Amino acid sequence: MTTVGILGGGQLARMLALSGAPLGLRFRVLDTVADACAGQFAPLIVGDYRDESALAEFASQVDVATFDFENVPAESAHWLSARIPVFPNPRALGIAQDRLAEKTLFRELGIPVPDFADVPDRAALDAAVAAIGTPCILKTRRLGYDGKGQFRIKSPGDVEAAWDALGAQAATVGLILEGFVPFERELSVVAVRGRDGEFRAWPLTENWHVDGVLSASLAPARVDAGMAGRAYAHARALADALDYVGVFALELFCRDGVLLANELAPRVHNSGHWTIEGSETSQFQNHLRAVLGLPLGDTRMVGHACMLNWIGAMPDANGVLREPGGHWHDYGKEPRAGRKVGHATLRAEAPVELAEALTRVGAALGREAQVAPVVAMLGA
Ligand code: AMP
Repeated sequence: MTTVGILGGGQLARMLALSGAPLGLRFRVLDTVADACAGQFAPLIVGDYRDESALAEFASQVDVATFDFENVPAESAHWLSARIPVFPNPRALGIAQDRLAEKTLFRELGIPVPDFADVPDRAALDAAVAAIGTPCILKTRRLGYDGKGQFRIKSPGDVEAAWDALGAQAATVGLILEGFVPFERELSVVAVRGRDGEFRAWPLTENWHVDGVLSASLAPARVDAGMAGRAYAHARALADALDYVGVFALELFCRDGVLLANELAPRVHNSGHWTIEGSETSQFQNHLRAVLGLPLGDTRMVGHACMLNWIGAMPDANGVLREPGGHWHDYGKEPRAGRKVGHATLRAEAPVELAEALTRVGAALGREAQVAPVVAMLGA
């Protein structure tokens, strides 16, 4: 009997546990809150990630540990890795936690990135804005996600307000200034690397965000083979450089046919949720196969898929359940503004059928605006 430990007990841990059940796996989840939604499917240990007694209890019950959450303190990942196998390795996790370290690595590997500069203090912010120009974005180096911990500087007159908003964090989580990329599209590569270095990627995904939070994903993204090849090469170079084991996502901006790397997510990713029904092997199952050293599954797509995120509260399920290719995922969470509470995936044989299904679902759920950019892309 193999038990997989997951640090973080949100929807990603929940979907990992669900996908591991057919493999006969057991799970333990460590989370800071007692109502973490993965706890509905796997025994939950409630404790702080820095609490050694909670970590010790967790370590004594599992064969291998992984993450549903990238902001687990690096020291905790190191502490665990001295006792049990931990994948991805703590160095990879540490680099992915820090936007500055991550972008520096992208650059070293020849992966194009937006302009960026470290902002340790106010004088450095002035110098960085002068060098990079406006518009630009001030971000926390660590602990930011879903557009949180960011301030857009539209003109030099906004620098004061940006410093007022985030300056206090320069000394704690650090700050980075990035050039604003007027991208045409946002894409992601979701990929997996095994313990033996085998690499596989799912077809490229196109993503639409609202207020910095993912709203919809379409796979396969409509890109030419050259662009897809470059995206895979970037993802592979990164995974090899980090000796990464497991699933990760590389988020990319597409501008004038050039791919610029935004962020590496060291875990299964929201833009890969469509793989549950849209691919031969889901990102969740392949992540488990990778961390356990099992053969990786085929990442081939089955038709065309679109995932719609439900933020704040679940809509009425019937409009999706009625669809032949409709799949519903309710994470069992309490509704709360801005919270990811569920998603739906629609799958169809052909793009035109997917566009028709999305149009019906948009109308039935009152989500016309959410489906509109995807329908437009499919019709293009
Ligand atoms: P992040 O937390 O870095 O993934 O940012 C969340 C979202 O904000 C991204 O998906 C983009 O839509 C937007 N964003 C972040 N960085 C930039 C940038 N340098 N230029 C333009 N948009 C950005």
